[in-house]
Amino acid sequence: MNVPKNTEPLKKHCENHEKCMQMIQAVLDGSATEQEIISFKANMGVCLPCIEGHDLQKSIKEALQQKIEKKCCPESTLSNIRQKLGIASALLVFAAVQITIFKVLLES
Ligand SMILES: [Zn+2]
Repeated sequence: MNVPKNTEPLKKHCENHEKCMQMIQAVLDGSATEQEIISFKANMGVCLPCIEGHDLQKSIKEALQQKIEKKCCPESTLSNIRQKLGIASALLVFAAVQITIFKVLLES
């Protein structure tokens, strides 16, 4: 993803992760305010949990979208998500709702 231009290391812990994830969700949904988009962009260069969280949310959204369009999920997409899920659980970015969505996605 985005590689920060400065040499500061990425944050490994997000002190405000719940808020960050809500912001990321809003940005992906297209319902984010201008202010949210600005802080989202600033955050995406510095905060590793947020970068991972964003990637994951995006993959799920895309996979879900393909399902809605009745295109079959390519196996590569699913294994990609499974892989990211592992990272996500390690980072505790996964909300219960999203796990439910994911289960539906895999089972149906
Ligand atoms: Zn963050």
